[in-house]
Amino acid sequence: MPGFTCPFCNQIMSIDNTTVRSYHPSFNKPNEDIISISQNHCHSSTVRITFYNCPSCMKSTIKVTGVGNQVKDMTSNFYPNSVAKQFPDYIPEQIRNDYQEACAIVNLSPKASATLSRRCLQGMIRDFWKISKGSLYDEISELNGKIPADLWSALDGLRKLGNIGAHMEKDTSVIIDIDPSEAENLIVLIELLMKEWYINRHERDNLFSKILTTTAQKQAEKKGK
Ligand SMILES: [Zn+2]
Repeated sequence: MPGFTCPFCNQIMSIDNTTVRSYHPSFNKPNEDIISISQNHCHSSTVRITFYNCPSCMKSTIKVTGVGNQVKDMTSNFYPNSVAKQFPDYIPEQIRNDYQEACAIVNLSPKASATLSRRCLQGMIRDFWKISKGSLYDEISELNGKIPADLWSALDGLRKLGNIGAHMEKDTSVIIDIDPSEAENLIVLIELLMKEWYINRHERDNLFSKILTTTAQKQAEKKGK
């Protein structure tokens, strides 16, 4: 069963009728019969409002999707108004801000979102890997051999990908043409890198220092006996 990640507390919740409910209001009716809902049979203004109620933090995530002919393909993250996940403070603020903004405008302006994602990616490569070149293209080249091969292939594929690749060779402030799904893929990649780089390093450091502390304690206990 697919889960839903609560954007407030990051807990994964199961999707069933105790956690998720949808309503279909329109100009004509306060709540259309869900079973009969299809574009041709409902009012042209019908929307689907879906509530995800998190059992962990009790907060509701609310999404609105167009169903009727007039509003079909419209979708909006009503609350919170962004799909952005919360990342920890030890990731530099500028990087988290670029990511948050890229998420907030992904449907409204995929172009601007992708531009922010690229800047976020460049920020991470410069901060985490201390690689700073004239262009993001050169910086990704420099990463070759430093990160797992499959991850580098994904980045390499990305820079080669159509419009993104063409413009990665130029300054990251250049606006590019891109569709929402491509912009979303960039966001997912940024999330993956935050996890693979910053969060994993933080957790590894924590683990190592715990092990060292425990070892030191055990040795002290031994000496004490
Ligand atoms: Zn929650």
